[in-house]
Amino acid sequence: MSRLQEIMNFNRSFVEEAQYEEFRTDKFPDKKMVILTCMDTRLVELLPKAMSLRNGDAKIIKSAGAIVSHPFGSIMRSIIVAVYELGAKEVFVIGHYDCGMTGLSAVDVLEKARQSGISNEVMQTVAHSGIDLERWLKGFDHVQEGVVKSVSLIQNHPLLPKNILVHGLIMDPTTGKLDVLIEGQQKE
Ligand code: ZN
Repeated sequence: MSRLQEIMNFNRSFVEEAQYEEFRTDKFPDKKMVILTCMDTRLVELLPKAMSLRNGDAKIIKSAGAIVSHPFGSIMRSIIVAVYELGAKEVFVIGHYDCGMTGLSAVDVLEKARQSGISNEVMQTVAHSGIDLERWLKGFDHVQEGVVKSVSLIQNHPLLPKNILVHGLIMDPTTGKLDVLIEGQQKE
Protein backbone atom coordinates (compact mmCIF):
# COMPACT_ATOMS: atom_id res chain seq x y z
CA MET A 1 0.00 0.00 0.00
CA SER A 2 1.35 3.35 -1.03
CA ARG A 3 1.36 6.20 1.49
CA LEU A 4 0.58 8.68 -1.25
CA GLN A 5 -3.15 9.09 -0.64
CA GLU A 6 -2.74 9.44 3.10
CA ILE A 7 -0.09 12.12 2.57
CA MET A 8 -2.17 14.01 0.00
CA ASN A 9 -5.16 14.06 2.36
CA PHE A 10 -3.07 15.42 5.20
CA ASN A 11 -1.39 17.91 2.90
CA ARG A 12 -4.69 19.42 1.82
CA SER A 13 -5.66 20.33 5.35
CA PHE A 14 -2.11 21.42 6.23
CA VAL A 15 -2.25 24.04 3.50
CA GLU A 16 -5.91 25.03 4.02
CA GLU A 17 -5.34 25.58 7.72
CA ALA A 18 -2.17 27.59 7.00
CA GLN A 19 -0.10 25.36 9.25
CA TYR A 20 2.89 26.48 7.18
CA GLU A 21 2.91 29.90 8.83
CA GLU A 22 5.32 28.94 11.61
CA PHE A 23 7.81 27.57 9.04
CA ARG A 24 7.96 30.58 6.74
CA THR A 25 11.46 31.76 5.89
CA ASP A 26 13.60 32.37 2.77
CA LYS A 27 16.14 30.24 0.93
CA PHE A 28 19.24 31.70 2.62
CA PRO A 29 20.48 29.84 5.73
CA ASP A 30 20.15 32.27 8.67
CA LYS A 31 23.02 30.61 10.53
CA LYS A 32 25.16 30.50 7.37
CA MET A 33 25.81 26.80 7.71
CA VAL A 34 25.44 23.63 5.71
CA ILE A 35 25.12 20.21 7.33
CA LEU A 36 25.95 16.91 5.67
CA THR A 37 24.45 14.10 7.69
CA CYS A 38 23.06 10.59 7.38
CA MET A 39 19.58 9.70 6.17
CA ASP A 40 18.97 7.72 9.40
CA THR A 41 15.32 8.12 10.46
CA ARG A 42 16.27 8.67 14.10
CA LEU A 43 17.91 11.96 13.13
CA VAL A 44 14.99 13.45 11.18
CA GLU A 45 13.72 15.61 14.06
CA LEU A 46 16.37 14.86 16.67
CA LEU A 47 19.33 16.39 14.83
CA PRO A 48 17.86 19.87 14.26
CA LYS A 49 16.35 19.98 17.76
CA ALA A 50 19.59 18.84 19.42
CA MET A 51 21.45 21.61 17.55
CA SER A 52 18.83 24.31 18.17
CA LEU A 53 18.09 24.66 14.47
CA ARG A 54 14.80 25.99 13.18
CA ASN A 55 13.40 26.06 9.68
CA GLY A 56 15.55 28.46 7.67
CA ASP A 57 18.70 28.12 9.82
CA ALA A 58 20.78 25.60 7.84
CA LYS A 59 21.07 23.76 4.56
CA ILE A 60 20.82 20.04 5.31
CA ILE A 61 22.17 17.49 2.84
CA LYS A 62 21.61 13.81 3.52
CA SER A 63 23.49 10.81 2.27
CA ALA A 64 23.74 7.29 3.70
CA GLY A 65 26.52 7.50 6.30
CA ALA A 66 27.16 11.21 5.49
CA ILE A 67 29.52 9.86 2.83
CA VAL A 68 30.75 11.99 -0.06
CA SER A 69 31.50 9.30 -2.58
CA HIS A 70 32.81 11.48 -5.38
CA PRO A 71 34.52 14.91 -5.35
CA PHE A 72 32.40 15.94 -8.34
CA GLY A 73 29.18 14.16 -7.43
CA SER A 74 25.88 15.69 -6.33
CA ILE A 75 26.73 15.96 -2.60
CA MET A 76 29.81 18.06 -3.24
CA ARG A 77 27.89 20.11 -5.79
CA SER A 78 25.24 20.86 -3.16
CA ILE A 79 27.94 22.04 -0.74
CA ILE A 80 29.53 24.27 -3.37
CA VAL A 81 26.12 25.80 -4.22
CA ALA A 82 25.37 26.32 -0.50
CA VAL A 83 28.68 28.19 -0.14
CA TYR A 84 28.68 30.36 -3.26
CA GLU A 85 24.99 30.91 -3.93
CA LEU A 86 23.43 30.69 -0.50
CA GLY A 87 26.05 32.20 1.77
CA ALA A 88 27.11 29.22 3.90
CA LYS A 89 30.38 29.81 5.78
CA GLU A 90 30.67 26.60 7.81
CA VAL A 91 30.20 22.96 6.86
CA PHE A 92 29.23 20.40 9.53
CA VAL A 93 29.72 16.74 8.63
CA ILE A 94 27.67 14.81 11.19
CA GLY A 95 27.88 11.04 11.32
CA HIS A 96 26.21 9.04 14.07
CA TYR A 97 26.87 6.00 16.22
CA ASP A 98 25.08 2.76 15.23
CA CYS A 99 25.04 3.84 11.57
CA GLY A 100 23.74 1.36 9.00
CA MET A 101 26.78 2.09 6.82
CA THR A 102 29.12 0.68 9.48
CA GLY A 103 30.40 -2.63 8.19
CA LEU A 104 28.05 -2.50 5.19
CA SER A 105 29.09 -5.20 2.78
CA ALA A 106 28.63 -4.52 -0.91
CA VAL A 107 28.54 -8.27 -1.49
CA ASP A 108 25.47 -8.60 0.75
CA VAL A 109 23.68 -5.69 -0.93
CA LEU A 110 24.36 -7.11 -4.38
CA GLU A 111 23.15 -10.53 -3.25
CA LYS A 112 19.86 -8.94 -2.09
CA ALA A 113 19.59 -7.22 -5.47
CA ARG A 114 20.00 -10.59 -7.15
CA GLN A 115 17.31 -12.09 -4.93
CA SER A 116 15.01 -9.19 -5.87
CA GLY A 117 15.29 -10.14 -9.50
CA ILE A 118 18.24 -8.11 -10.81
CA SER A 119 19.93 -10.49 -13.21
CA ASN A 120 23.64 -11.31 -13.39
CA GLU A 121 23.52 -9.97 -16.93
CA VAL A 122 22.49 -6.53 -15.66
CA MET A 123 25.23 -6.64 -13.00
CA GLN A 124 27.78 -7.50 -15.67
CA THR A 125 26.57 -4.74 -17.98
CA VAL A 126 27.04 -2.25 -15.14
CA ALA A 127 30.48 -3.64 -14.33
CA HIS A 128 31.50 -3.48 -17.98
CA SER A 129 30.49 0.16 -18.20
CA GLY A 130 33.27 0.91 -15.73
CA ILE A 131 31.24 1.09 -12.49
CA ASP A 132 32.91 -0.68 -9.57
CA LEU A 133 29.73 -1.70 -7.73
CA GLU A 134 31.56 -3.14 -4.74
CA ARG A 135 33.49 0.04 -4.17
CA TRP A 136 30.43 2.22 -4.79
CA LEU A 137 28.29 0.36 -2.25
CA LYS A 138 30.93 0.05 0.43
CA GLY A 139 30.30 1.56 3.87
CA PHE A 140 33.01 2.13 6.51
CA ASP A 141 34.47 0.12 9.37
CA HIS A 142 33.86 2.87 11.95
CA VAL A 143 31.74 6.00 11.74
CA GLN A 144 34.82 8.04 12.72
CA GLU A 145 36.54 6.84 9.56
CA GLY A 146 33.57 7.93 7.43
CA VAL A 147 33.44 11.41 8.98
CA VAL A 148 37.20 11.94 8.65
CA LYS A 149 37.08 10.93 4.97
CA SER A 150 34.15 13.23 4.16
CA VAL A 151 35.71 16.18 6.02
CA SER A 152 39.02 15.65 4.25
CA LEU A 153 37.42 15.45 0.82
CA ILE A 154 35.37 18.62 1.39
CA GLN A 155 38.21 20.53 3.05
CA ASN A 156 40.64 19.72 0.23
CA HIS A 157 38.19 20.30 -2.59
CA PRO A 158 39.77 22.58 -5.20
CA LEU A 159 36.62 24.71 -5.48
CA LEU A 160 36.10 25.29 -1.75
CA PRO A 161 37.31 28.74 -0.63
CA LYS A 162 39.93 28.89 2.14
CA ASN A 163 37.77 30.74 4.65
CA ILE A 164 35.15 27.96 4.97
CA LEU A 165 35.33 25.94 8.19
CA VAL A 166 34.68 22.21 7.86
CA HIS A 167 33.82 20.44 11.13
CA GLY A 168 33.41 16.72 11.78
CA LEU A 169 31.02 15.51 14.49
CA ILE A 170 29.30 12.34 15.62
CA MET A 171 25.82 12.25 17.13
CA ASP A 172 24.29 9.74 19.51
CA PRO A 173 21.06 8.77 17.68
CA THR A 174 19.20 8.28 20.97
CA THR A 175 20.23 11.25 23.10
CA GLY A 176 21.33 13.67 20.36
CA LYS A 177 24.66 14.19 22.16
CA LEU A 178 27.36 15.51 19.82
CA ASP A 179 31.04 14.61 19.97
CA VAL A 180 33.44 16.86 18.09
CA LEU A 181 35.90 14.83 16.05
CA ILE A 182 37.39 17.64 13.97
CA GLU A 183 37.10 21.35 14.62
CA GLY A 184 37.40 23.16 11.30
CA GLN A 185 40.35 25.50 10.82
CA GLN A 186 40.88 28.15 8.18
CA LYS A 187 43.20 26.91 5.46
CA GLU A 188 46.59 28.64 5.19
ZN1 ZN B 1 23.58 6.39 9.37
